[in-house]
Amino acid sequence: MRKVLTTCGYCGCGCNFYLNVENNEIVGVTPKNDHPVSQGKLCVKGWQGYSFVNHHDRLKQPLIKGEDGNFHEVTWEAAYDYIGTKLKSIIDKNGPDAIGFLSSARCTNEENYLMVKLARAVLKTNNIDHCARL
Ligand code: SF4
Repeated sequence: MRKVLTTCGYCGCGCNFYLNVENNEIVGVTPKNDHPVSQGKLCVKGWQGYSFVNHHDRLKQPLIKGEDGNFHEVTWEAAYDYIGTKLKSIIDKNGPDAIGFLSSARCTNEENYLMVKLARAVLKTNNIDHCARL
């Protein structure tokens, strides 16, 4: 069994644990005993919250809605091109406050920090919020 050290993404506490991986699938978690936050303990979400990783409904490729109204799989490069083009066109037409960002309690603190930087420093809008307030 392979053990992969990671940070729990279920809340901002940032507990650490090892994902126990067999045949490229997560089969359990083991708390990290010397982590300053979790100290070898986890709440039920940390212990049990990994099933989404291999869930059959999980999106594995970006999707773009076509003219036919259906979603079509595209490459990551095509998805980023599409996002960049759309954001630029909205900002050019209506200014940066015409866009907004929603980040997630399921992201790490570092990922949420990057989202704030993208919104405020790169795209010049303060319209950013967090799913915990929705
Ligand atoms: S194990 Fe529980 S308390 Fe720790 S980060 Fe995950 S959700 Fe938060």
